[in-house]
Amino acid sequence: MKDIELNGITLEESREYMVNIGEKGFRGEQLFTFFNRNKGLDIQQAKVLPQNLRESLAKSQMITKVDILKRFDSNIDSTKKYLFLLEDKNIIEAVLMEYDHGFSVCISTQVGCRMGCSFCASTKGGLLRNLTPGEMLNQIYLIEKDAKVDISNIVLMGSGEPLDNYDNVLKFLNIIHEPKGHNISYRNITLSTCGVVPRIYDLAKENLPITLSISLHSPFDEYRANIMPIAKAYKIDELMKACRYYEESTGRRMTFEYTLIDGINDRIVDGERLVYLLRKLNAHINLIPLNPIKEYDGNRTHRDGVERFKRYLLSKNINTTIRSEKGSDISASCGQLRRDYLERD
Ligand code: SAH
Repeated sequence: MKDIELNGITLEESREYMVNIGEKGFRGEQLFTFFNRNKGLDIQQAKVLPQNLRESLAKSQMITKVDILKRFDSNIDSTKKYLFLLEDKNIIEAVLMEYDHGFSVCISTQVGCRMGCSFCASTKGGLLRNLTPGEMLNQIYLIEKDAKVDISNIVLMGSGEPLDNYDNVLKFLNIIHEPKGHNISYRNITLSTCGVVPRIYDLAKENLPITLSISLHSPFDEYRANIMPIAKAYKIDELMKACRYYEESTGRRMTFEYTLIDGINDRIVDGERLVYLLRKLNAHINLIPLNPIKEYDGNRTHRDGVERFKRYLLSKNINTTIRSEKGSDISASCGQLRRDYLERD
């Protein structure tokens, strides 16, 4: 990996870098703007910089390259799914979705994942490596250029566990939010985690007004531990305590993801216990119909059951929505696209 990733550093670091190589600080700002506002890729195109500087930067090999490998367009909605090729030939995926309020991109934070959730395709081959800030940024910039859209929302819900790549994810957030760069509001960014409790406290202390979404998937420790190994390390009580801390320190409402699996977490007792757990939070629950993958033999809850579960939670005053299934004709959630591609070739 590169010592310095010129297209994955903060504005401050970019200024410092230029000063360190004997240039003026404002050159760092120009470089930062070239990458993060103009979405530049080829440094030779950064015409604001003097030619000799451009050439030495191009030779430095400190600019991370990401290429679009393949794009899949849904026939039922405007969703587009992308596979990207990284410099070391690893492959990652991201998704562009259109909502009433604008375009949203779901990006990956790691190549693979080591969290081991039983129903999730991303983790089946384990963790290969963390993504750099530049690789996360480029998923967004390349999609925007390719689809000719400006995105307004970002979700860190692709492959990988964002809190398992904490420093790079934090740097990514800083860069994408920077007003002199893309200038995305923190409020329009959602970070999804399987529940790495110590990191939830760390994140709360950063005091960024992003939305934190917890993949809960069961209100009972023993059931949760069966489908999510992280639950063996942190009990639901500890997780809820961390969520309350997060809500109190950031003032942000918590979101919970809950993938409904027939007979595992969609029973009446599950609904009741969920209501009990969330009673002290101002929570929102997003119900996700399970996307079947061949490595997991659980079944998705029937549509009526999903509606019933939703109605129950709403009747207990818990804000509940069902995640709309976007682009379901082009391979569904989390790591399935990459995995299908790797298995085919
Ligand atoms: N590592 C993060 C981000 C992962 S993906 C996390 O665990 O939150 C985003 C959501 O999709 C998570 O809630 C994850 O549990 C869920 N998910 C993964 N595979 C799924 C599948 N096959 N069907 C439904 N939801 C799935």
